[in-house]
Amino acid sequence: MSEHSDYYSPSGAKTWLNCAGSAILNHGKRDSGNKYSTRGTMLHDFAERNAFDVPFDDIDYSGLNPDDARAVKTAIIQAINLQGWMGDVNDVEIHLELQVKAPDVPDCFGTIDIFIFNRAEKHLLIADYKFGSMYVEVKMNPQLLIYALGGCEYLESRHSGSGWEGIENITLAIIQPAVDDEKPMTFSLSKTELEAWEEEVFLPAVDDIEGLKRSFSQGEVIPLKVFNPGPDQCQWCRSKKDGTCPALQAEVDQAVEEMKLPAIPEVDSTDWVEVMNRVELVKQWAKAREEQMMELVTSGQAPQGFKAVRGRMGNRAWGDEEAADRWLKSQGLKEKERNVFKLKSPPQIEKLLTDLTPQKKANFEKLITRSEGKLSWAYEDDRREAVEVVDVNVAMADDDIDAL
Ligand code: SF4
Repeated sequence: MSEHSDYYSPSGAKTWLNCAGSAILNHGKRDSGNKYSTRGTMLHDFAERNAFDVPFDDIDYSGLNPDDARAVKTAIIQAINLQGWMGDVNDVEIHLELQVKAPDVPDCFGTIDIFIFNRAEKHLLIADYKFGSMYVEVKMNPQLLIYALGGCEYLESRHSGSGWEGIENITLAIIQPAVDDEKPMTFSLSKTELEAWEEEVFLPAVDDIEGLKRSFSQGEVIPLKVFNPGPDQCQWCRSKKDGTCPALQAEVDQAVEEMKLPAIPEVDSTDWVEVMNRVELVKQWAKAREEQMMELVTSGQAPQGFKAVRGRMGNRAWGDEEAADRWLKSQGLKEKERNVFKLKSPPQIEKLLTDLTPQKKANFEKLITRSEGKLSWAYEDDRREAVEVVDVNVAMADDDIDAL
């Protein structure tokens, strides 16, 4: 997915929709990229070239490492399944890498990875590949909603005057193999709901930013009140990354100031959402500063008082295993003294047992154990199911009663 907008980049919409000041502060800044974004772009291009244009069995994954090949193959399967779900290939209009523009905003362009329209059902699907491991929420995902606005505009201009009856339903889909390797994550909404979002969220945010653009060009300093620090919007903000956001800095200063207070928060009277939002912001700010320092010292620009150092050396390993084995053998070590034989892990074995019957598959599963995931905290609207945990005070009181 390539982006063409600076103020209104769809992929950065979570940031500028929630923090108007970010659009001004981030204007003209470029992401330097990293190994994760390079990998994402490479896999994305591979999926784009192969998903619909090459017969599935002819796709050549040989240039990819096994993990990347598995991820992109999963993505391609999910993309093909989505197309099947939208209807027979003769009944749908498919576009890959479709460049669209959101209506009424001059500078809001983006490229939709997969666009499928079923005219008979008046149903539009917008799908986006994500190859990172950090979960991306599909429900009311602002990037995909902007693509949907652009997709509707595209269809309306393309079909106007030809008995066009419009779109009724839209499905947004995120294909993210690292999060769900079975199916894409989807969210459906009506065209009316999309238009309500456009009126109530999208256009008011654009109006705010246009107002700031005018003020800013007149030389006004951007006031703190137009920023809105929060874990979601700051997460990928370039001004968090380069440390230039005054509002985030003020938020961190305030949080640090409050940390000096001796009072222990009262559990019941504390606004924990606010506390944890602030904790998250301070962590993000600290992580961004660490990354910035790392970039400086590893590019030969260490600030005064800092230097680049090397960590502990890696574990010792044989430079040439075969040569080492020959030499060890010549020293009289027997084969079982030179080698460790170990059963492969379930995922490694699973790749060898590709044709198991359901019964054998069930027997295979019975051999496997997994430790439970660690308990951690999450916001109430997190998509994962809540774990029932017994209140320790109630449990202790029950124990006291039993002891009577
Ligand atoms: S760091 Fe946060 S508060 Fe600052 S501009 Fe970015 S999104 Fe807004």
